[in-house]
Amino acid sequence: MSKLTVKDLDVKGKKVLIRVDFNVPLDDKLNITDDRRISEALPTIQYVLKQGASKVILMSHLGRPEGQVVEDQRLAPVGKHLEKLLGPDGKVLCTKDCIGDDVKKAVETSKERVILLENLRFHKAETKNDAEFAKKLASLADVFVNDAFGTAHRAHASTEGVTHYLKSAAGFLLEKEIKYLGQAIDKPAKPFVIILGGAKVSDKIALIENMLPKVDVIIIGGGMAYTFLRSQGKEIGTSLLEADKVPVAKDILEKAKKANVKIALSEDFVAVQNFKDPSGLKIMKDLEPGWSGVDIGPATRKTFKDILSTAKTVVWNGPVGVFEVKEYSDGTRELAEHLSKLKGVTSIVGGGDTAAAVAKFNCEEGITHISTGGGASLELLEGKVLPGIAALTDK
Ligand code: AMP
Repeated sequence: MSKLTVKDLDVKGKKVLIRVDFNVPLDDKLNITDDRRISEALPTIQYVLKQGASKVILMSHLGRPEGQVVEDQRLAPVGKHLEKLLGPDGKVLCTKDCIGDDVKKAVETSKERVILLENLRFHKAETKNDAEFAKKLASLADVFVNDAFGTAHRAHASTEGVTHYLKSAAGFLLEKEIKYLGQAIDKPAKPFVIILGGAKVSDKIALIENMLPKVDVIIIGGGMAYTFLRSQGKEIGTSLLEADKVPVAKDILEKAKKANVKIALSEDFVAVQNFKDPSGLKIMKDLEPGWSGVDIGPATRKTFKDILSTAKTVVWNGPVGVFEVKEYSDGTRELAEHLSKLKGVTSIVGGGDTAAAVAKFNCEEGITHISTGGGASLELLEGKVLPGIAALTDK
């Protein structure tokens, strides 16, 4: 990669400011229900400690407090959990704020080598990329490492702002994300198959347009499939539809044909009349008026799995059904299980709902790379430059 990485830095005796993405899900009792974002940041933190950094200053957001202190969104539970993961060497000091004299003093005098700053988004200045705020964050340290892929698509004070004041490098997680996603975009092993799902076509148009010249097959499932099916004149009952996107869907199907890209759409459906009553579900080849498609049917699952078996690279973004409801989850589960068992394929799962689905069905182990950033991975696949990466120091 053309940007400095943490291995290019001499951190011995230095204070290292690391932007991590500790925006983890918490339950009512503030227990962390999925700690992957914390464990994925460990390699960078442990490396910097091992290299003799005097202080490792971690900063993150949690939730959307929108510029106010929200007690339930303090980072202290994350700090405790991190301490457990780090083991004996990693006592963690959690500060009460992320900037200010008290924080500065705490950083200078703490006996703990790891310091976790309080939720950045307790300050409005963070998301506004306020220069003064960024300067204050930067003033805590000697060098900066960005390891928060999940927020790399946002130009915030802690991702872009601080890079104006400190030498800035990518952490191992950021590097890994760019490696896998970047490779899929630049030189994917062929055949290259993309699975798209989720609720909205509008979220995926830019991705499809950018990937059409690179991909061999695009599998489309989930709620977004119905806008495509409608554009082919098919009956979709009461399924999800973005009526204003029907012409765009039609245009994409035509462009795909010209580019010799196969678009695989659902050929049968799990359908219900009442979403809240799964007991009435039916498998339908053609949807009927009054029925809503909530998952891909068995024939479609077979077709999609057969396509996946031919692939050398697979990128998956979006569940192909309402996987949160058990009765509507078979399509997503079967694809996840199938993908996780395939040999000789590089499988990449976008973050967000798809990562949650893969975790729910215990298929994480067989997947080559599960991104920690839903929005960021989507933007990379759309061909956008991520400001948090662009701002890092060039090699
Ligand atoms: P997105 O945020 O666009 O990735 O959408 C993810 C959501 O799409 C999940 O919560 C799924 O429940 C939902 N979804 C997937 N398939 C369908 C469908 N056929 N009808 C309605 N919602 C769906």
